Amino acid sequence: MSRTIFEKIIAGEIPAETVYEDDQVFAFKDANPVAPTHILIIPRKPIPRIAEADSDDHSLLGHLMLKAAAVARSVGLEENGYRLVINNGRNGGESVPHLHCHILGDRPMKWPPG
Ligand code: 5GP
Repeated sequence: MSRTIFEKIIAGEIPAETVYEDDQVFAFKDANPVAPTHILIIPRKPIPRIAEADSDDHSLLGHLMLKAAAVARSVGLEENGYRLVINNGRNGGESVPHLHCHILGDRPMKWPPG
């Protein structure tokens, strides 16, 4: 399968504003923000979407969630709250087939989501 835009961002072939990185995950600002703060956190491993993760990914997915919260804290979102979103497949609104968690903040979020 061809490499996605997110793999190229991890490799430094496409520029992005990095917010956090370690050996397992990479976080960067979304190019088309839908909130005043909009960060994507992704595993370095190219899992296409959450539905295709398996039991080998158990620890990686736990790390991804904990680091999503740590990134939100590091950019000052903890006090007022924030939303984490994972879009899966066509009806979920997924447009890049590399698992990513949106970190959205600095405005009130509506429910139900659109
Ligand atoms: P999805 O719709 O798949 O849940 O989210 C994909 C996200 O990736 C979108 O919010 C979109 O703005 C973001 N995105 C797509 N291409 C790029 C890019 O080249 N750079 C960055 N920083 N974000 C991107």
